Amino acid sequence: MSMMYISTRGECPPLGFHDVMMSGLARDGGLFLPSAIPDARANLAEWMRLSYRELAFEVMRPFVDIPEADFRFLIDRSYSSFRHPDVTPVVSPAPALNILELFHGPTLAFKDVALQLLGNLFEYSLSRRSRSLNLLAATSGDTGSAAICGVRGKKGMRIFVLYPHGRISPIQERQMTTVADDNVFCIAVEGSFDDCQAIVKEIFRDLDFRDRNMLGAVNSINWARILAQIVYYFFGAFRVMETSRAESARFAVPTGNFGDIFAGYIAARMGLPIGLLILACNENDILSRFFNTGIYERGKVRRTISPSMDIQVASNFERYLYYLLREDAAAVRRLMKQFDETGRLKLDMESLRSDDVRFAAGSSSSESSLAEIKRCYEENGYLLDPHTAAGVRVAASFRSDIEPTICLATAHPAKFGEAVRKAVGKDVARHEMLAGLNDLPARRTILPASVEAIKGFVETHSR
Ligand SMILES: *Cc1c(COP(=O)(O)O)cnc(C)c1O
Repeated sequence: MSMMYISTRGECPPLGFHDVMMSGLARDGGLFLPSAIPDARANLAEWMRLSYRELAFEVMRPFVDIPEADFRFLIDRSYSSFRHPDVTPVVSPAPALNILELFHGPTLAFKDVALQLLGNLFEYSLSRRSRSLNLLAATSGDTGSAAICGVRGKKGMRIFVLYPHGRISPIQERQMTTVADDNVFCIAVEGSFDDCQAIVKEIFRDLDFRDRNMLGAVNSINWARILAQIVYYFFGAFRVMETSRAESARFAVPTGNFGDIFAGYIAARMGLPIGLLILACNENDILSRFFNTGIYERGKVRRTISPSMDIQVASNFERYLYYLLREDAAAVRRLMKQFDETGRLKLDMESLRSDDVRFAAGSSSSESSLAEIKRCYEENGYLLDPHTAAGVRVAASFRSDIEPTICLATAHPAKFGEAVRKAVGKDVARHEMLAGLNDLPARRTILPASVEAIKGFVETHSR
């Protein structure tokens, strides 16, 4: 029997992996979760000896329904675009500092780990069903280029990425617009990121248009993205447990939409010995306030030096809520409704799942993240990007003498060169891949911030 998936809101029938991957959001408005979490405790000793790709196959196998040889091929193909043989290596620039480097993919951000695989999974599923798919996404930076890189040149798929014209960094724009494949369309919208997102949402609400143009989504609520991210928690914990001879590890995770850290939560539920999940926010600290007070309350988004964490309502949080409420879908529905109406919900954390995976949470201001970048560079000669720096800073408050901490490095520092320069006072964050972008021809279409204009463009280019 292959794995079935259920909705956190419990009002739609269970679906298989393929349908879950294609639909993203469940039709009752909930998010998909596996109907049971596999227990991997008996496999840990053996998995410790596997390469990243072999491990990826073993960890993900119970969740997918793809023939073994095909799935191995898709994994190999997805991770051959990474520049490090370990895919996500662990480095230790100082004795108590373990960094799981997730940025060796083609766009230098951790999102490649999931989106490289997702692109190949989409292509595989579509070709076997003779279908095609047009992906539509709004981006303020990292997601757009990682999604484009996952989809470029793939058969049966096109991708349309909307971003605010003149309001993303020139490097981020060039990472998208210099991709030459003719199934990639970059649209610079004359408006803000919120305008882009509102346009995408409105287009998805037009079910006629959506079906006629075979639209699909690649945002972080897609279960297949979470799935791919579970793997590196196993890989990272194994490397550090080997070298330190510890029996467990803790992870510090720079968090925005709660996707990355939720993958760690699933890894722990599968039996990986994670003693503590340390959630790090920037000034947008709705999640750290929740873990410290039980109150989840929307605020205004503030712009910081770690833009991928500038999020107030974390789209994957509902998945955790489902487990926290002991898999009571009616309770999830009630609370999410309350949150939609009032922008606030309160849980009695003491009475909830005291037996569950442990979390700790904190936030790091732009100022303290910059100080962390400077300190780490001066003391260890190692450069952190501003997202990773927030994680390292928050991790320092939850240090243990017996349990090593692994900090997730979610972007290469050269992607955020401006912040690094501000922190260390010189231009040291570089990467040849980004430098080369300046010489490549760029392609984009500038359109007004109107639903009709975007729909018209998609309609003429989607077949
Ligand atoms: C997307 C992103 C994050 C946040 O990850 P979530 O899964 O949204 O919590 C952190 N750092 C970087 C560099 C990112 O691109």
